[in-house]
Amino acid sequence: MIYLSKSKYCQGKQCAKILWMNQNKKDLFDSSVLNEARLETGNQVGDLAMGYYGDFVEVKFGERRSDMLADTKKYLDAGDKVIAEASFAFGENFCSVDILRVNDDGSFDVVEVKSSTSKNAEDDSDEKNVKEVYLDDMAYQYYVLTACGYRVNSMSLMQLNRSYVRHGELDIHKLFVVEDYTEAVRSRQADVPETLARITAVAEQEAEPPSDDYIGNRCNKPYECGYKAFCWRNMPENNVFDIGFRVRGTKKEELFRAGILTMEDVLNADGCGLSDKPLRQITTKVLGLPPFVDRDGIKEFLDSLWYPLYYFDFETWPQAIPLFDDVWPYEQIPTQYSLHIQNEPGGPLIHKEFLGKEGEDPRRAIAERICEDIPAAGCMIAYYAAFEKTRIKELAGLFPDLSAHLMAIYENTRDLIDPFAKGHYYCEAMGGRTSIKVVLPAFFPDDPELDYHALDLIHNGTEAADAFATLHEQSPEDIEKIRAALLKYCELDTLAMVRILDKLRTLI
Ligand code: SF4
Repeated sequence: MIYLSKSKYCQGKQCAKILWMNQNKKDLFDSSVLNEARLETGNQVGDLAMGYYGDFVEVKFGERRSDMLADTKKYLDAGDKVIAEASFAFGENFCSVDILRVNDDGSFDVVEVKSSTSKNAEDDSDEKNVKEVYLDDMAYQYYVLTACGYRVNSMSLMQLNRSYVRHGELDIHKLFVVEDYTEAVRSRQADVPETLARITAVAEQEAEPPSDDYIGNRCNKPYECGYKAFCWRNMPENNVFDIGFRVRGTKKEELFRAGILTMEDVLNADGCGLSDKPLRQITTKVLGLPPFVDRDGIKEFLDSLWYPLYYFDFETWPQAIPLFDDVWPYEQIPTQYSLHIQNEPGGPLIHKEFLGKEGEDPRRAIAERICEDIPAAGCMIAYYAAFEKTRIKELAGLFPDLSAHLMAIYENTRDLIDPFAKGHYYCEAMGGRTSIKVVLPAFFPDDPELDYHALDLIHNGTEAADAFATLHEQSPEDIEKIRAALLKYCELDTLAMVRILDKLRTLI
């Protein structure tokens, strides 16, 4: 017998084999797929949302579901009108409702809280920004509540409002957006018992469900599955799921289901209609071709630069719940930058850097320092420059007195990813990808100075963001260590750009 919750139901919708693995091989779960910081953000948002409808009572999470059910009954019997984490069970199906509102006629309004953002409130031109998984989650709750005999009047989704900008006190009625999905949830009701029957049958079977029947895009969507190392263990190297260059997941799955398993199979099937760049990845790999170099394309890119050249990289802090004025949910607040300046191709480097003070809004200080460090007419270069340019534009919008200077830098920014994304250079070690974390070791596989893994504490942008977010909570000694690690990490990002550009120059 398998007991389901709303998260288990959604896992089963993603892949019924996850439930079988949970039952039989749970120790193989790779917990590194769980992002602790994101889970913590979800908890903080959930706690804040509980107060949206005023006074409330909360059913405390407990190991024993029976206690949560008893508490819920106690609050309902007492006539409480807003109950957070109200819990219900029907047969083997259990669910806790984020916010339950009890109407005077005894019917329920159910609110599911997610820490994701909604679309801008004024944007009603497109489908609402709701993931299928949220609807499945709500459909399961509706099923359990109605099966228990309750009348559910409405099902709503509460998300963070991306168009809310904090000014002064946090206004949770503007911070959150509540959208009604009652009809969409009701239209899924026929699917719920069918899904329950299907996924519990798989979960309760004795033999392991064959991986080949299940593996595919679902192993990463909507969430990365922690059993991939096990289920994918017999997949050959260079299988079709390793094809990069933005080939759609549905196309790869289509090839896989058609028995085209490896890149070699793709070549034997005349390329399967893939475009030039993925085909270059495949031929380079299968035929062992040397790096592809389009000298004209690289030269054109290099000719678009002028010196002194300003190699620039931001690190940012996306706050789900805005902590400062003039911040919206998940705005990428720039917290630090690294800058290498080079006066002539291959010339010596000057390094400058900025790192905001922990717990403080760094934007004014960082904007002023950028204007001091980079002249308006300077050529700035970044890797995946759309990110840096967007942050610069946001700073320009925030500080009108610096706007002209910042927007000149914005206009003068070039993108070092272009030669790779446009296919002017490709080598086997890139594996169909073009990020700096792939291109750098492809060019310099054995250089310890350019090895992100050799860094202390901070090895990627997510770690940098998480470290800065909690920096003010650390001891003075740890703050010093973490700040040093943040500076080192960001410095490597711009040093990597310098070396990559040097390498491109030598290629032509
Ligand atoms: S790795 Fe893929 S096939 Fe295996 S349980 Fe997870 S989602 Fe299912």
